[in-house]
Amino acid sequence: MELKEKIHQEFVKRFGQDGIVYASAGRINLIGEHTDYNGGFVFPGAIDKVIMAEIKPNGTEKVRVYSIDIDDYAEFGLNEDDAPTASWARYIFGVCREILKRGGVVKGFDAVFAGNVPLGAGLSSSAALESCFAFALNDLYNDNQIDKFDLAKIGQSTEHNYCGVNCGIMDQFASVFGKKDHLMRLDCRSMEFEYYPFEPKGHTLVLVDSVVKHELADSPYNKRRASCERVAKRLGLETLRDATMEMLNDIKSDISAEDYFRAKFVIEEKQRVLDVCDALTKGDYETVGKCMYATHEGLSKDYEVSCEELDYLNDIAKESGVTGSRIMGGGFGGCTINLVKDEILPAFIKTAKTKFNERYGHEPKVYEVIISDGAHRETPKD
Ligand code: ADP
Ligand code: MG
Repeated sequence: MELKEKIHQEFVKRFGQDGIVYASAGRINLIGEHTDYNGGFVFPGAIDKVIMAEIKPNGTEKVRVYSIDIDDYAEFGLNEDDAPTASWARYIFGVCREILKRGGVVKGFDAVFAGNVPLGAGLSSSAALESCFAFALNDLYNDNQIDKFDLAKIGQSTEHNYCGVNCGIMDQFASVFGKKDHLMRLDCRSMEFEYYPFEPKGHTLVLVDSVVKHELADSPYNKRRASCERVAKRLGLETLRDATMEMLNDIKSDISAEDYFRAKFVIEEKQRVLDVCDALTKGDYETVGKCMYATHEGLSKDYEVSCEELDYLNDIAKESGVTGSRIMGGGFGGCTINLVKDEILPAFIKTAKTKFNERYGHEPKVYEVIISDGAHRETPKD
């Protein structure tokens, strides 16, 4: 059954009338990894996998919400000490609280929601959930007066303050601002962004999820950050955003080899995002693919955030003739993102599943995605 229909049937069953339907999307990031905290660029887009909710104000100060996918119901008030215990409900409570904290209006409502963004696969189902409710509550109670960037920040603050996840802004930004057939180059220093056309005719974007997550003891993320900060400081810069390879090579003998390679990756990655934007304006998907492979190589060899399984998936992609492939996300497990010509798509998926299974004892999960609209209202306004 279609997602919307499934939600509607459940809504009517529980609450006895029609609500208004909203949706927001998960996201991919084509290129620009580990660049956000270095003041660089990321290049995400919203996808055709969404969280959808039917919602209706209920005239009380209570929120009543049912999650179809988790098959769980929660009821909570809107004051700070009304926080629900179920973690899925805390995303919704957090969004309500963050709107109220910013002086916005939220009153009691009934909601039923469900989605098809795979959870924890690196496609940001949590941002889709936050953005869906943030967008809805802006439309229902605030006359859409809350600026879209603030909607993204409301989602981000929800993760920080109610879900214990110290995330950046990219996921919520992409979920709120996503536009069909477009990726967005977000400047993580100025927070300015620009849409670029992404219509890879004859190609499909495919996520291959290794379903492995290596837990590492020595906080590798913080160590990478510290390396970048040390090099920036040595160069007299706030972040590596303004660093060049020439500047880095000038101080090579003064810094550790490890710091050198970390900074090299960041400097090259910043340039690769710009190169991909250029290539996209020319419709040159071969160059886009080459940059994706170069990013993988950098993440694996210089930044050292890959792992055996992800390198293997990257090798399989290369051998299969995939146009571009790289790790997506922080690394040490999770997905690769692949730009694949349609004529080799079935063979690539089959090979990736078989070979990976032979070596690691389980198949990777495969998700085809289409770049689509972000947060929106599904029910037409009358
Ligand atoms: P992701 O990388 O997909 O964002 P997270 O761990 O950040 O993974 O967020 C996943 C959490 O978001 C889930 O544990 C759940 O609390 C909530 N969530 C996501 N999708 C749904 C859904 N369809 N129904 C209910 N809760 C969901
Ligand atoms: Mg998340």
